[in-house]
Order: sequence, then C-alpha cells, then structure tokens
Amino acid sequence: MRTITIKPTAITHNLNQVKKRAPHSKVLAMVKSNAYGHGVAAVLPALTQADGIGVATLIEALEARQLGWNKTIGLVEGAFTADEWQQAIDHEVSCVIHHVPQLEWALDNVPPAASATRVVWLKYNTGMNRLGFNAEGVIAAAKHLHAAGYQLILTTHFANADDITHPLNAVQIQRFKDMLATLKETVSNDVKGSLCNSAGVVNFSEHHYDWVRPGIILYGSAPVIDKSAQELDLQPAMSFSAQIIALQTVSANDAIGYSSRWIAQKDTETALVSIGYGDGYPRVVSEDAYVSVIDNTNNRSYPCAVLGRVAMDMIVIDVSAVPDNTSLLDSKVILWGDAPHVDEVAAHAHTISYELLCRLSMRPKRVQA
Ligand SMILES: *Cc1c(COP(=O)(O)O)cnc(C)c1O
Repeated sequence: MRTITIKPTAITHNLNQVKKRAPHSKVLAMVKSNAYGHGVAAVLPALTQADGIGVATLIEALEARQLGWNKTIGLVEGAFTADEWQQAIDHEVSCVIHHVPQLEWALDNVPPAASATRVVWLKYNTGMNRLGFNAEGVIAAAKHLHAAGYQLILTTHFANADDITHPLNAVQIQRFKDMLATLKETVSNDVKGSLCNSAGVVNFSEHHYDWVRPGIILYGSAPVIDKSAQELDLQPAMSFSAQIIALQTVSANDAIGYSSRWIAQKDTETALVSIGYGDGYPRVVSEDAYVSVIDNTNNRSYPCAVLGRVAMDMIVIDVSAVPDNTSLLDSKVILWGDAPHVDEVAAHAHTISYELLCRLSMRPKRVQA
C-alpha cells in the first residue's frame, strides 16, 4: 500500500535540536505548504513547545486556528487584500508587512490593543530582492506603525544561508544588524528582530535574535550544504513507502519501461513497485537512485536500484542482490525515510528535499507512527 507515515516524535526531536542551537530565541515553526507536505494536522501536536507557527497564506492560518492552534501565527507574505487584513485581525494572525498597500491597510484599520495582530513583522530587503522595504522605507514604515500602536519585529530572509561561505550572508547580517539598531534608537527600544531560517539557525549562531523561523530542519532534512541530517542529529519525520506487486526476470538485452531506456546487460531479477510520479516520487532520477526493500520473510533491508523510467503508477527495481528474491511479493519498499534519506533522493532527482516533500499527491494513504 502506498503510504506516507509521519513520526511526530521525530518532529519534536528536531524542534528540540533547534532550541538547543538557539536557546535564547523564540521559535516560529514553519508549517506552510501543509507542513512541507507532512500534513499540518499531524504536525501541530508535535510542535506544542514552539512559540508560534509560520504560514504563507491566510487559508493556512485559518486551518491552523481551526485545528486548535492558539498561540502565535505569523503570516510570512502578509495579507494580500484589505479584506484579508480584516480576517487576520478576526483570527488574531500576526502579519508581515512588506509593501505600501499592506502598510496602508494596517494604518487604516488598527486592531484592538490586546490583539495578536498588533504585532507586525516588518520586512526589510537586505539582499534577497523579493519581499521587503528598502532602508528608507523600513524606517518610515516603522515610525508610522509604532505611532499607530503596533509592536514591531524587524525581519528579513537569507538568500544563501545554506552556504556558509557565500559573501552575501555577511552583507545581509550587517544590514539587518544596523537597521535593528537604528529602529531601536529612533523608533522604540522594544523593536524585536527575526533573521534566521533553518540554515541560519545552523550556520549563524551569533545572529539568532528574538525569533528564529525554522522550516525544513523540523522535518529532518539537512538545511545546509556541508552537513548531512545525520551529522546534525536530525530524524526524518516522514517515511514514504509502497509495496512489491510483481516479480519478473528480464533477459539480457531486453529493455524495461517507457522509452526502453534501461537495457539489461545480463539476466536480471526485477520487482515492480506500486509507486510513481502520480504519488509524488520524482519522474526523473539518476542512475544512482535506489529504494530499500524490506524483505517480508526476514525483515531485513536491501538497497535496490531504480531501473528505467519512473511511470505514473509504478517503478521497476533491481532485486538481483536480495537473497531468496523469489518470495518478495508484497514486501514493503521505502522510497525515502531512514534510507534512502529524502536528501539523497532529492540529489538523485536534481532538486531539493523541500520540493519532493511539498509535491506529494493525495493518493498515498497517510498514517502516523
Ligand atoms: C519558509 C520560510 C522559512 C523557513 O525556511 P527553511 O529553509 O525551511 O528553514 C523562514 N522564513 C520565511 C520568511 C519563510 O518563508
């Protein structure tokens, strides 16, 4: 059975790793895009020790409220319309303000003093060049918002935090640091700061400020390019699995699958696995791509190469190296989990774990470990 198994204990473990690395910061646990594909309902109970959650759309914020999340929710792109700003107020959602229309909605429609929406995340463009005010704009916005009674968190986002050697990191950190000092001096000493995503939490421990915003690290994937999830003591929060539904022997010189791309050099024992890009397994994977077969007679795990094209509903794997491979029917196959790790599959698919996790389809059954 195609199955996505979520391990809440792994998420809590990973959250604790973040807290160990950033002991003086509050944690805004990022659960956008359905908790990076893990399912927000499955993930929230594992995040009770987080100080807040971060989402990208108002719908995601409302879903989390409906699920009973009653602490901070940060809306990282802010409201998209004046009506959304009002809904954010109605549901006590704390918004990013990154451009002038949002500033105007906030100044025209100030929530009650006790409202969580009175805390705004003021976005400063320090070099990512996507969202955010320039230096002059941030100072002006901060003055207006403070005068209207808002509490401010200055925020920005790294473009290259995964690569500790990238020169833009130091530039972004310096601009952020200078601006926070300016706002503390000229607007209010109470202005807070939030700089780091997962990679920043790992790579820039001197610059954690008041709130860190970890995402991918919570799900057990390595956020930096030079350390593995294992080296960072992270646990994968998802196991993606399917089963063997047929066994074949492919003769030497015969081809497998669409486009007959893989041709057997010798007689090869193969197994058909009921998984494909219709489930979210990537269609294009390199020759090194493998899965783990859990032999259902002895429960041992064997790495098996993926052969030929990934189809919508199935893949073919090489089970020649599995002893007694004639009895593998119904055995479980791990697409990613402990091994291979989703980071390895992402590398084999020339993408990042984020994308593989987010684009899982509705078809696999979802369960909790
Ligand atoms: C998604 C997001 C994060 C988390 O990024 P990770 O790389 O997953 O840690 C942090 N901050 C903002 C503004 C985001 O949109």
